[in-house]
Amino acid sequence: MEKDPQLSVMGGGLVGCLLSLYLAKQGYKVEVYERRPDLRSAELAGGRSINLALSDRGWRALETIGIAEDIKKVAIPMYRRVMHDVQGNLSFQAYGQAGQAIYSVSRGGLNKALLDLAEAQPNVTLHFQEQVLEVELSTNEVTLLNTASGQEHTIQPDVLFAADGAFSMVRLSMQKTERFNYEQSYLDYGYKELTIPPAADGGWQLEKNALHIWPRGQYMMIALPNMDGSFTCTMFFPYDGEVSFKNLQTEEQVQSFFQKVFPDAAALMPELTQEFFENPVGSLVTVKCFPWSHAGKVVLLGDAAHAIVPFYGQGMNAGFEDCTILRGLLEEHGTDWETIFKTFQEVRKPNTDAIADLAVYNFIEMRDKVADPRFLLQKKIESK
Ligand code: FAD
Repeated sequence: MEKDPQLSVMGGGLVGCLLSLYLAKQGYKVEVYERRPDLRSAELAGGRSINLALSDRGWRALETIGIAEDIKKVAIPMYRRVMHDVQGNLSFQAYGQAGQAIYSVSRGGLNKALLDLAEAQPNVTLHFQEQVLEVELSTNEVTLLNTASGQEHTIQPDVLFAADGAFSMVRLSMQKTERFNYEQSYLDYGYKELTIPPAADGGWQLEKNALHIWPRGQYMMIALPNMDGSFTCTMFFPYDGEVSFKNLQTEEQVQSFFQKVFPDAAALMPELTQEFFENPVGSLVTVKCFPWSHAGKVVLLGDAAHAIVPFYGQGMNAGFEDCTILRGLLEEHGTDWETIFKTFQEVRKPNTDAIADLAVYNFIEMRDKVADPRFLLQKKIESK
């Protein structure tokens, strides 16, 4: 049976979709507003494969909505790190005990699966090309721009869940309230996605069940496997300085740099220079803020509440865990939103601050320490 309050979720990304499913399964009527067109539409199919590492926290959330098994069929377990040195020699570190792994999943594939599930709920309505412009917090009035028609309109939900990502417009409205703490910090590094295509026989050109790292001290590249036999590589690299994106301006510079520092990977990248100049450089931001809720009527979650850098592979996993915690609180406190949101932010904030700091630290570990022979020896001793 449907309950009364009108709930709106801003953002139909990974976290917004999962949350809307949870809310719908508890009997609420939910409207989801997403800025982009529907990912599942034919015109948007194809494009680059971008993948994410899904780990325990994420799996737990997917299990509760019964899609863990389906997603596992299109997820690739990565049992270990494989480090590539400049000569192409490999070294290995297991992620856990035998059989334990983190999983490479397609971001788009997972988002589409969650959209399908959300849409299948009779009490969820998805609205695409609806961009939140601002929220009037005194009345909970949300101004939306329909990007297809160019028309603005307003809605006034009873409760607003903001899963609109690292650059959340809902959070921006909250930033204008008194005693709202906000901090954002960017790394001096950006990232660029590149591809190692499948082998001629459709197989993987590097070890399939592994996360590959090319640690180079001040920078690095990583690669995660995709189901189609390709790998998505991500190069984390300084914006400025002698060795930086600024100094890779021509095809010759890119080719000679890759052949010098990532020779084994470069040999597997026929489209390297084309991709290098076509694909954008993404920025790496940490966002911390508090409180995450306003007057028991608005709450931030996922990247909107706590954007972190990707070096622990935990941003989405932490956002999914937000949903798991919120779900438990909804079961416990019914529609006492004030209590639910206060408890939620108090329980989650120390954890998300911790993973935010660990993620920044892990960049140094991944780009530098994993290549240190003393570290490898230590790992061998630990695993004995
Ligand atoms: P998003 O995924 O950003 O979704 C927000 C949604 O809101 C989007 O659909 C967006 O279109 C929509 N939106 C934005 N603004 C508006 C608006 N004004 N109005 C309406 N809709 C709006 N995490 C992991 O767990 N594992 C990984 O391996 C991993 N790797 C990563 C690698 C990189 C390079 C990066 C950058 C991040 C990585 N992350 C990883 C982090 C992960 O991508 C995020 O934590 C996760 O996507 C957060 O989900 P979200 O739904 O909160 O936000």
